[in-house]
Amino acid sequence: MKTLRSYVGGRWHEARSGFTTLVDPATEEEIGRASSEGIDFGAVLAHARDRGGPALRALTFAQRAQLLKDLSKVLRDHRDELLDLSTRNTGTTRPDGSFDVDGASGTLAYYAALGKGLGDRAFLVEGDGVQLAKTEGFYGRHVLVPRQGVAVHVNAFNFPAWGFAEKAACALLAGMPVITKPATATAMVTERCVELLVEAGILPAGALQLIAGATGDLLDRLGPQDVLAFTGSADTARGLRARGNLLAANTRINVEADSLNAAVLGPDVQDGSVTFALFLKDVVREMTQKTGQKCTAVRRILVPSGRIDAVQEALVSKLSEIMVGNPADAAVRMGPVATAQQLDDSLRGIGELRQAARIVHGSGERTDGVGAPAGKGYFLQPTLLRGDDARNAGPVHRREVFAPVATLLPYDGTAGDAAALVALGGGTLVTSAYTDDAAWAGELVARGGGGTGRVYIGSEASAAEAPGSGAALPQTLHGGPGRAGGGEELGGLVGVKLYLQRMAVQGSRALVDGLTGA
Ligand code: NAP
Repeated sequence: MKTLRSYVGGRWHEARSGFTTLVDPATEEEIGRASSEGIDFGAVLAHARDRGGPALRALTFAQRAQLLKDLSKVLRDHRDELLDLSTRNTGTTRPDGSFDVDGASGTLAYYAALGKGLGDRAFLVEGDGVQLAKTEGFYGRHVLVPRQGVAVHVNAFNFPAWGFAEKAACALLAGMPVITKPATATAMVTERCVELLVEAGILPAGALQLIAGATGDLLDRLGPQDVLAFTGSADTARGLRARGNLLAANTRINVEADSLNAAVLGPDVQDGSVTFALFLKDVVREMTQKTGQKCTAVRRILVPSGRIDAVQEALVSKLSEIMVGNPADAAVRMGPVATAQQLDDSLRGIGELRQAARIVHGSGERTDGVGAPAGKGYFLQPTLLRGDDARNAGPVHRREVFAPVATLLPYDGTAGDAAALVALGGGTLVTSAYTDDAAWAGELVARGGGGTGRVYIGSEASAAEAPGSGAALPQTLHGGPGRAGGGEELGGLVGVKLYLQRMAVQGSRALVDGLTGA
């Protein structure tokens, strides 16, 4: 069994006690253990603040971008090894693991290219300058400078590579040192990523540290220049936000949390059309990819009421083809959920959904997996439920079942009704709409856009190229209002700005133009 280590203060730390056991979710074999006991978190912060921060801030955006490019290459060069680890520790099939691992190297590469374009500057200029008095003797302009603290990244179990890299890319590009803390249960992939990056010797000392295990008193020590970026459940997020020291210091916090994402079938889409086929393909993928353990997965499927029987039949037929089992077997299309706790929570969640909906595919029980020992593994068949009273389907709009589980609901075909039902989710990361009718889509955006971070429109024109609503692309925003956490990640420079301080510079125009290079 492997003992995971933390990388702190420029060396590897191995704990002696307080371990959490890591398992292979397909076999329940114990494969590792992790603990952060014995770490001096004050020293971890000091190492980042005194060494990593100054070293990164001494570089320009273009120079930091070059670091990201080199980091991306290291992860790409070790892709196969990381995919193997992902299968063992998170239960992902090879394609599902690549969504995480290639997502990590791809996002680093994207930010490397973006940073190169920002050039050899120490800070960014935002918007135009403005004359503030009768003459140019007094003039103002906004600039973005690196925050002087530490970026602490607390990540969810489902994306151990991408979750680490997408946050680190933005913070490092901005010039902030990173302390990354993966979810303990699936920390193996992150630990190996950090090990590879440390071995490559790309980053300055103190720029990247890893906590394998709990955060101890780390968060109690954060202050006004630090940033806490959290991804995980809404419950944990609430607890973190309420911490007195973070409130008192106004520590910047970004939260990416639960989401009851909806897929909406437009009333114009006919059976047998390209758009209808895309809708079915996307919904099945977004239910089952990574065994439904994606914050952007489809949880609610809204269908014009007259079409719901036909859609149910088509979805059940496709879901029946999905072979569930040990992802080490190449024929398997969907692996187990990642942990025993995740399985328990999913089964409880299905029970809650059944108060408002009935199962039309799947059993709502644990199942055995192909290629896994009988009675072992956290397997669940793809599970489709159906509710007939969408407005009163309370638990369907409230309970996120973080597994391959979604519920079909009818709506009256209008964009207004769809938007109202989407809104019952309390704020989502993504709403997907399948339509070729721009006016209908426009109405959905106008009425429902405020409640979601992204509207993904699947249509005949996008069918060949669109990656599915679940892909959080670095060019566009990831995050959503309300229950989804209210955070903003990725989206090109949007994600980098989390780690930059916006400030106004005022003075004579000549001076302001001179120092901003205008
Ligand atoms: P979780 O239980 O909230 O844990 C998330 C992270 O928080 C883990 O690293 C966990 O560490 C840590 N943590 C828990 N309690 C903590 C505390 N008191 N202080 C400091 N850290 C603490 O969530 P999860 O089960 O890993 O992830 C599933 C959830 O994440 C789902 O609800 C999903 O929707 C959400 N998610 C959202 C996004 C998004 O981008 N919006 C992406 C992925 C997942 P330990 O593992 O050591 O407990």
